[in-house]
Amino acid sequence: MKVFVADNASDSQFLICREITTPLLFADNLTGVCSRCAAAIQYRPHAPAKPPKICMGCFEANEGREDYDVLITRETVSELGLDIPRKRKH
Ligand SMILES: [Zn+2]
Repeated sequence: MKVFVADNASDSQFLICREITTPLLFADNLTGVCSRCAAAIQYRPHAPAKPPKICMGCFEANEGREDYDVLITRETVSELGLDIPRKRKH
């Protein structure tokens, strides 16, 4: 599995989302459900409509076992102060 910061959501198969927290991680977060386990999740209002959203639990459960790509948006990376490399051009 590759995790990358993507400008184009269609490059990826899943979008990783955090489980619901109280309060939400950001006051303007939207809520939904994980596309795999239906757990309640939250995501940023600027998160792309595609690809399907999965929760951190599903992401971690499948890490290293399934060969799919997941993405985190640049906005989320900057908001969370993450250090994930940009996806390289082919
Ligand atoms: Zn899940």
